[in-house]
Amino acid sequence: MNIILLGAPGSGKGTQAEYLVERQKFIQLSTGDLMRKAMSDKTSLGIECEKYISNGQLVPDYITNGIVNEYMQKVNDNLIFDGYPRTVNQAEFLDEMLNKLNKKINLVIFIDVEESILVERISGRIVCPTCKRSYHKINKMPKIKWICDFDATPLIVRSDDSPEKTKTRLEVYSKQTKTLISYYEKRNILRQIHAGNRSADDIYSEIEKEMELIK
Ligand code: ADP
Ligand code: AMP
Repeated sequence: MNIILLGAPGSGKGTQAEYLVERQKFIQLSTGDLMRKAMSDKTSLGIECEKYISNGQLVPDYITNGIVNEYMQKVNDNLIFDGYPRTVNQAEFLDEMLNKLNKKINLVIFIDVEESILVERISGRIVCPTCKRSYHKINKMPKIKWICDFDATPLIVRSDDSPEKTKTRLEVYSKQTKTLISYYEKRNILRQIHAGNRSADDIYSEIEKEMELIK
């Protein structure tokens, strides 16, 4: 089964992907994580991605699709797509790629969170640069302050989580990504979760129920 987690920045895609990996043995494909890894390795791909990420803009489709295409030559089932696709072009590319592999997207979970909550979450997000888990300065502190529970790496704040970049990223989401809701609704594979202020565990239970329904 392949699942897409769709939602605005800060809606909890990475958190739910982490649960699905730990509890259901899925494999997470986060384009944001792959791009940040290329940036920290200072590869030419990373240098290119940084130009866009540091401005809160989307990395162009041809680059993003290329990253996913390369990844999927090795792993192409049991995937949780986290932060991909983000444009109609990417969604079409993904459909074609899966088609060629005789695979498909079985479920798209749209995590619907209102903007004021998104801003509060992003402004408090702290992440582990090693295992990529995300924490929150108020809602989800690690056991030892600013140290990852899993690998003891010091936690960091993402540079694109600043208030100014957050504003741009939320605008980009509204203009370029939201349209994917109707794209997947038309295919009858989209399920919307009204997340509001509900806990991550609560949302995870709902995702599990949706997965059961399509088995
Ligand atoms: P995304 O991957 O969609 O950008 P994250 O999973 O990184 O979002 O979550 C953004 C921030 O919100 C993180 O600090 C995370 O710990 C926190 N968070 C995620 N889900 C919830 C939730 N249901 N309730 C409260 N905080 C949450
Ligand atoms: P994320 O980690 O999903 O919050 O993504 C962080 C940033 O990486 C985004 O603001 C974009 O600049 C870039 N990015 C991640 N995924 C994509 C994608 N599918 N298409 C274009 N840009 C992306």
